[in-house]
Amino acid sequence: MTRGDAGVLNAPTLSVVIPAYNEEDGIAAIVERVLDVRSALRQVGVADTELIVVDDGSCDRTAEIVSRYSDVRLIRHARNRNYGGALKTGFRSAQGDLLAFLDADGTYPPEFLPQMCRVAIDGADMVVGSRMAGERNDSPAVRRFGNFLFAQLVSLMGDRRVTDVASGMRVFRREVLSRLYPLPDGLNFTPAMSTRAMHEGVRVAEFPIPHAERLGRSKLGILRDGWRFLSSILWTTLPYNPARIFGIFGVLGIFAAALCAAIVLGLRLRGVTSLGPGVVLVLQGAVVFGVSGVSLFTLGMMFNHLVSLFHGRPVRRGIFGRPVLRQPLEHHFWWLGGVAAVLGIVLSAMAGAAAFDAWPIERSWLWLSCGAMCFIIGLQLTTSWLVMRTLEQLSVRDVARQRDLAGSEKQMGQE
Ligand code: UDP
Ligand code: MG
Repeated sequence: MTRGDAGVLNAPTLSVVIPAYNEEDGIAAIVERVLDVRSALRQVGVADTELIVVDDGSCDRTAEIVSRYSDVRLIRHARNRNYGGALKTGFRSAQGDLLAFLDADGTYPPEFLPQMCRVAIDGADMVVGSRMAGERNDSPAVRRFGNFLFAQLVSLMGDRRVTDVASGMRVFRREVLSRLYPLPDGLNFTPAMSTRAMHEGVRVAEFPIPHAERLGRSKLGILRDGWRFLSSILWTTLPYNPARIFGIFGVLGIFAAALCAAIVLGLRLRGVTSLGPGVVLVLQGAVVFGVSGVSLFTLGMMFNHLVSLFHGRPVRRGIFGRPVLRQPLEHHFWWLGGVAAVLGIVLSAMAGAAAFDAWPIERSWLWLSCGAMCFIIGLQLTTSWLVMRTLEQLSVRDVARQRDLAGSEKQMGQE
């Protein structure tokens, strides 16, 4: 295989990996369908295709059926190691420049492999067969709905739209595996793979495919695996773009606080000055939501600086998909924090003084609460600014040190 200018591959080889666990009903048909597309694969520029079936410790006739095909490499797990585990075994022994995988149950159409390989040959790092974009999707409604939600979640956590993150039919370039690993052994292998691809900047293309109802029994448990899918998407996002997860809750908190404040203000404007239990509760809500919202928001941003220090690259993404201001938002936190803190001190001092003077304590308490909230938020903003500036300094320290070292040597040379 050689590689052209725009990442185009010339005559790559392909390894198709099929994980199979107790699939005696469907394995023969899918093996034959894959073997039948070999000539179509040659036509799109794939030099050679190998088919690997990983028998994942089946107790039925799966391995026996596969062993009858001389063109198929059969790898056997002595004990069941789960879907992702079986795929990883297949990839380890695959020879191809391109790797592909699909289920043994006949749900994914190998007839689409040539077109998907073509997209990879033309430059994509990973081509995902999208069941959601295809014309026919015979999987049960609850699974379609779940897949829709997971695709929305991965899109929300990253910066691109994807329609299917749990697809079990993909073609990808062998070298992207080192950026995608480590991946889990379970059925959550695919959502974790899509999430990591999103954050590692892997060029992902989706190709619409039809999806059939499976032969034999699914190994996926809706609740158990749904929960695993959700947690692996979130845990895979956290080390790359934690500000997105924290920020969403932070923004929600700030909105809730603003709503509470608007209610209190609305009551005041309508002449309600008495502090009944309703107003007290709403004000309490404003303080709690406001402080925790700002806290989550700033913590998320600091978290992004921390992980970028770990990855050794600048913060790439943030709470919002694109920069909101010309300068990064956090560069304004020192003065925003200062203003909020001073406002908090002034409000508290005035309300405190009024409490000893003419105001009833309930009325002063209202302003004392506002002052406390402003002061705490101000403190959060300024301290997070300090932390982020420090982390920024650490992240450019090596470059700055080299610059100073190189500069001083040059000066000595000039003397
Ligand atoms: N599989 C496997 N080991 C397991 C579970 C599943 O190799 O422990 C295989 C299974 O035979 C199928 C693929 O992984 O080829 C996906 O599993 P399944 O079709 O049951 O999941 P679903 O597609 O229903 O999510
Ligand atoms: Mg399946």
